[in-house]
Formats: sequence, C-alpha cells, structure tokens
Amino acid sequence: MDILKLKNVVKIYKMAGGGTFEALKNINATFSAGELVSIVGESGSGKSTLMNLIGGLDSDFEGEISYRGKNLRDYTAQELADYHKKSIGFIFQNFNLIPHLNLIDNVALAMTLSNVDKETRVKRAKELLEKVGLKDHLYKKPDQISGGQKQRVAIARALINDPDVIIADEPTGALDAETTDNVLALIKEIAQSGKLVLMVTHSDRVAAHCTRVLRIDNGELVSDEVTGKLEPLATRTEHDAIEVKNMSLFNAIRLAFLNMKAKLGRNTLVAFGTSIGIMAVVLMLSIGRGVTNYIKDTMNSYTNPNVTEVHRQSMMPDPDKQPDMDDHAEISRMQQNNMAALTGSGTDNDFTTKDITKLKTIKHVDRLEKGYSTLSLGTNSVSYGDKNATIMTLQTMSSNITKSSIVSGKAPGKDEVLLDKGTADLLAKNIVGKEVTFKLTIDGKQVEQKLKVSGTYEQQGSNFSTAIVRYSDLKDIFAQNGQTLKPNVVYLYTKDKDNTEKIKDEVKKLGFSG
Ligand code: ADP
Ligand code: MG
Repeated sequence: MDILKLKNVVKIYKMAGGGTFEALKNINATFSAGELVSIVGESGSGKSTLMNLIGGLDSDFEGEISYRGKNLRDYTAQELADYHKKSIGFIFQNFNLIPHLNLIDNVALAMTLSNVDKETRVKRAKELLEKVGLKDHLYKKPDQISGGQKQRVAIARALINDPDVIIADEPTGALDAETTDNVLALIKEIAQSGKLVLMVTHSDRVAAHCTRVLRIDNGELVSDEVTGKLEPLATRTEHDAIEVKNMSLFNAIRLAFLNMKAKLGRNTLVAFGTSIGIMAVVLMLSIGRGVTNYIKDTMNSYTNPNVTEVHRQSMMPDPDKQPDMDDHAEISRMQQNNMAALTGSGTDNDFTTKDITKLKTIKHVDRLEKGYSTLSLGTNSVSYGDKNATIMTLQTMSSNITKSSIVSGKAPGKDEVLLDKGTADLLAKNIVGKEVTFKLTIDGKQVEQKLKVSGTYEQQGSNFSTAIVRYSDLKDIFAQNGQTLKPNVVYLYTKDKDNTEKIKDEVKKLGFSG
C-alpha cells in the first residue's frame, strides 16, 4: 500500500541577502508500508531538507508530497497538526531526552499534550519501553543509561502515538558499531510491523540493512534501488486508538518552530531536535518565549481590550547568542534556563518592585494587577474522587479573563479555582461547587491544596488544561510552603480601551513585552 508519494518535489531556500538556493531538485519517489528505506548522500546533499518536508515541518516547497493521497501543502493547519501527532514519529541522532525526567515520563511526554489520562500514558510508555528492552530501567534518568539505551527510549517515544511513518535522521550517528546493530534490529522490527521507516544515514553498513536505498547528490535523487525485502511480522500489537484533543498547541508549536527556524538558523534547531511529538517539549525547553508569546497572542484575541498583559523580556533567549553545538553542557544549561523561565521556576522573569512602580505610572493606566502564570509538563494536577487531570497552565485571575469566557459558575473567589471546561468535564459531569484537590509543585516540592471549583471557562483557540486561582490565594499557598510568590505577569487596566495601544507602546519603550 502506498503511503507517501513524492512528485516533482523542489525546495528552494530563500537566503537572507535575497538570493536563493535550490536544495532539492525534482524528487520523485513512492513509499509503501513495511519498507525500510535508507537515504544516503554526502553532508549538505539535502537529506535533512527532504526529511523536514516529508515530516511536515516545512510546507514551503513546490510539487507534491502526498500522504494517503493528499498533498501536504494543501493541508489545513488542523490536518497538519493531525499528521504530526498521529502519522509521523521522529527519531534523532542526539536523542533529545529530557534530563530530569525518568524513562517512562520521557516516553509518555509525547502523549501528555493530547489529554490522554495519566494511567493510559504510563501503561503505554511501559509497554513500549519493555518492547525496546528497557524493562529494568523504567525509573532511571537518561544520564544513567548508555547511548544505545537512550536511542531505544527515543524509539519508544517515536512510537507512542502509533504513527504510520517513522522518520529517523541519522539515528545511529552517535552510536558505536555494536550498539548500532542493536538499534538497527529494533528499527527493522518497526518496519516489519507494517510501518514505513525512512532513515537518513552516512553509513553503508546501516544502508545495507535496509530494503531500499535512495541516494541524493546535490539535491538530486541519483539512484533509488530496492536491495531486499522484509518478512512482515504476523502480529501487530494493537491498542486503542488515541483521541487527540489538544490540536491548537501543536499548531502553536509548529508556528513557533517555523518562527524560530527563521530567527535562530537551522543548526540550532537541528541540535535541539525538530521532532514534533517531542518537539513540543524540546521547543518549550529551548525557545520558551516563542511558544509562550504565540500562546499569549492567541489568547489575547479573546481577552479584554481594556487590559494590557505585560511580561518581562529577560526570559527571551538572546537570538544573537548561538550556543556551541558541540558543548553539551552548554546546551543543557540553556535548556534548563529556558525551562525555568517557561515554567516560572526561574526568577529572571519576576517583576521587581521598581518595575511595578514604572508600569503603574504609565499614563492612562487606571489599575495594575499582579499575576502569575506558569506552564508545566505534568507536575501540576487537579483531582476529584479517583479522577485526575494534568494542568498545563496555572494562572491567576485577572481582568483579562472576561465574563463571556466563563461558561458556567463564576470567577474564582477566595479558596476557589476556575477550570477550563475540558478539564472540568474530565473530572466530573457537574464539578462546579465541588471541592477538588489541587496538586502543584513549588520549588520541587509537591504541595496539595483543597479548592472549590467556582466555574468553568472556555477560550476559543486554546485547549490548554488550565486552572485559574486568585493571586492572593496562590501567594498564601506559596507562603505556607516557605516560598514568596512574585508576579511574573502584570495586567494594566485602562477605563477607555482607546488608550490600550498607547499603553502598549509605553510598555515596549520601558523594555517590557506587552
Ligand atoms: P544534509 O542533511 O544532507 O546534510 P541539508 O538538507 O541539511 O543536508 O542541507 C542541504 C543544503 O541546503 C545545504 O547546502 C544547506 O546548506 C542548505 N540549507 C539547508 N537549510 C537551509 C536554510 N534554512 N537556508 C538556506 N540553505 C539551507
Ligand atoms: Mg542532515
């Protein structure tokens, strides 16, 4: 069965100076399920470019790349998001595992963003880790296992949403010969189980394991040879289809990715990893600000026109500062910093008293509200009875959340929480008025707090699982745990919305993002 068809595919990069570079010239090929294809060619020949196009990371090409009959170029944002989430899995040379998460969480992560409940995620992650031979290492962190084992984790992660196509860009590039054979055997099995595997490699040894070899030279497909055949594996383990709900996040990330690609140049992204499932996470780690900004923009179009939301600029990675890609410690440090900034656990993005005074005195600002907002990857949750839901964004109540977005109940009062409708429905049919247990991580410590659900809210364009509490309550929770809550977002309210633009300009002049 044909899965992918490439017809006259041309990729032209536009250069900063105005010139162009033709990286792929008229590529034609058709791929079927169960094939294990290697793509070989010298460095700079266009292999990664081709993978990025097939992976739907770059829709700016000429010709056709049809997945199950439809050209990727014609996909709507939603279809593309679906494609990334359900159809494609990525494996990279440098694994891109998250250092502070254990193997189960690293694998389950790619599912975290799709509102699948934790139990299902963990179960599936365990199954896959067992399948790749890591049964005895489930609770280890990436730095406690070898390179080959890391790549196995990455393979498990690529498989978690059961995609049809696996794209592997030099998956064995960082492995020694013996480990390479082990990983290849595993990749072979994936193809045998009926998936299409496209693997970029430099190594003839690796290519020799494949059923077909495509050679690219200078952007041209110079040969396409069938070199063998795989015996399909009889049984394919089936699991329940996973419903993917959180599409807009993937769009957000995709856009952020494209945006960052333009800004940072491709090497940074190649090093940080460009896979989508994991890309979500990697991007959050590496470019934090891009994603949050995009999310903020989307949200802002549904929020109060009288309010300006202000963030500190300092958490933005310096685009001129290109990290040394061979310095892994440096990359890790950068990722940690960005993670800290993004999750609000860093202090870089806190407003100082001085900042607050400056903002308060901007002309036309009638009220300043302090706020706190944090994105978390599985560390914050809310539970009711035996139901538990992960909270991705925790934020404080502000005038920016309009009445019209509250679909039932009301804004949170003291010791109350407002939940997004999706999360509320996940917990119980009629959750409003009920007491839930809110679990959050403060300074690495798990903290529990009972809160009453004041209402549910819905924000078009955002499917984040969100909990909104009062700033004063959150401040108390922090204080009870020996921490001081500092605002990392500030809302400036003006009575006349015609002033909002002027306020935004002033905010920017002062060096904040508004
Ligand atoms: P490979 O993966 O085979 O090493 P790439 O696909 O990364 O090669 O690159 C193919 C060619 O396209 C190279 O000459 C590279 O310099 C060029 N190229 C890749 N990305 C860009 C870009 N964003 N802008 C301009 N040229 C690019
Ligand atoms: Mg490459």
